[in-house]
Amino acid sequence: MRQAVVNTLERKLFYIPSFKIYRGVAGLYDYGPPGCAVKANVLSFWRQHFVLEENMLEVDCPCVTPEIVLKASGHVEKFTDLMVKDEKTGTCYRADHLLKDYCKEKVEKDLTLSPEKAAEFKHVLAVLDDLSAEELGAKIKEYGIVAPDTKNPLSDPYPFNLMFQTSIGPTGLSVGYMRPETAQGIFVNFKDLYYYNGQKLPFAAAQIGQAFRNEISPRQGLLRVREFTLAEIEHFVDPEDKSHPKFAHVAGLEFLMFPRELQLSGESAKLVKLGEAVSKGIVNNETLGYFIGRVYLFLTRLGIDKTRLRFRQHLPNEMAHYAADCWDAEIECSYGWIECVGIADRSAYDLRAHSEKSGVPLVAHEKFSKPREVEKLVIVPSKKDLGLAFKGNQKMVVEALESMSEKEAMDMRAALESKGETNFQVCTLGKEVVITKKMVSISMEKKMEHQRVFTPSVIEPSFGIGRIIYCLVEHSFYTRPSLSIPSTHDLANRKMNNSMSSGSLLLLLLSNALCSPW
Ligand code: AMP
Repeated sequence: MRQAVVNTLERKLFYIPSFKIYRGVAGLYDYGPPGCAVKANVLSFWRQHFVLEENMLEVDCPCVTPEIVLKASGHVEKFTDLMVKDEKTGTCYRADHLLKDYCKEKVEKDLTLSPEKAAEFKHVLAVLDDLSAEELGAKIKEYGIVAPDTKNPLSDPYPFNLMFQTSIGPTGLSVGYMRPETAQGIFVNFKDLYYYNGQKLPFAAAQIGQAFRNEISPRQGLLRVREFTLAEIEHFVDPEDKSHPKFAHVAGLEFLMFPRELQLSGESAKLVKLGEAVSKGIVNNETLGYFIGRVYLFLTRLGIDKTRLRFRQHLPNEMAHYAADCWDAEIECSYGWIECVGIADRSAYDLRAHSEKSGVPLVAHEKFSKPREVEKLVIVPSKKDLGLAFKGNQKMVVEALESMSEKEAMDMRAALESKGETNFQVCTLGKEVVITKKMVSISMEKKMEHQRVFTPSVIEPSFGIGRIIYCLVEHSFYTRPSLSIPSTHDLANRKMNNSMSSGSLLLLLLSNALCSPW
């Protein structure tokens, strides 16, 4: 089946390996005429289903991104995959892919495998995304996994940053990267978009554009490539109220869900009503649940087979530490279950990170109908005493004192009251200093407030368009054995191609499906 699909897609120029006459580059593909038509239809439906139906604010930001933006977001430091190297030839492999291929082969092909060993390999497959570098390395050693091409030993796994680096301008001094996701362009525009939206929450911004990831081992055609189209939504919401006014529209949907408990206990995905998943706390909140429901409707209306679509919850280590909850829409195709859409509640992480780095507050306001009395932490550094003690470093100590959390400040107050002084870490100085009682006053004071200022949380559905198109083709693909009475269309196709190809049939099928009214 896979071979027939891939042959058809390549023969009919749905996609073409890029730079083919120069022998191509792994992980880079062109869309040919029918591929462009299908992609345009998928994107047009995406705009209709999300941007227009949900009144989202669409933006279009550059792919080249200055380093500071991706430093703030954490990509420069942490956007990595674990890699192992063939110790003799230096060929690179993704560590988790090698372990996955090994365990799959054992489970599927080793007839001598004991039930205990089979269960162990299945468990490793279930928790693969949850393993640390050390755990992956230990498993590779334990199973004696070697380089697939040469059978040479492998290095320990180590992180490899997936971003393509470039420089902006002729001097070569300004470092930039090709964006690995479109989301950061939206976050850095939050302040303007919030004003454009009349300073009201919730609202969502959306972007369709190219993303670039220097994958260690691109494979499986359009499924793992080095440049691809992402369609992303950033829905900004009050962290204290993640209810969704339209949740009732999707609460009755029932589909395959794969919560982390089922994954860890070796069970399969189950049919669950979305309303129940949210009310039982399996899905963290209504807004996240609403988007899971909308993604389900988008994919199934597009033509994805609902029996081969499941929503899998991230395992604890797989999820970023700041995220409240994450689910992937996975579609089953001949390559197994493939993550096609990631739906994450990223809490306030991104906006906070850009506020801190840029110094521009990316916050929202809730105006109170009547002023409210609140207890507020007040930290007043004594600049005179700090200046005498720290001279040129005074400014950094003052800033560090003023940015203490309530807990840190209360701990410091207790220490100053009991001992008269305390040690205090100033990150910007890279060392601890001694703070005495007269250098700072810390108190909780009652104040009247007219508004609440807060950093919104972000719920992010992120769609890999190439993956969705490939799965859509597999789910729609069939070949007719032979036709006794050929239609005019078939005859025309036969004339063009001499033999009735599944490709022309597929093209017809997809264009019919995609042009029909939604
Ligand atoms: P992520 O930001 O890693 O959650 O990725 C968001 C979406 O992008 C995924 O759900 C995939 O559909 C898609 N995606 C990620 N990496 C690739 C890749 N190398 N090639 C094609 N699509 C990708």
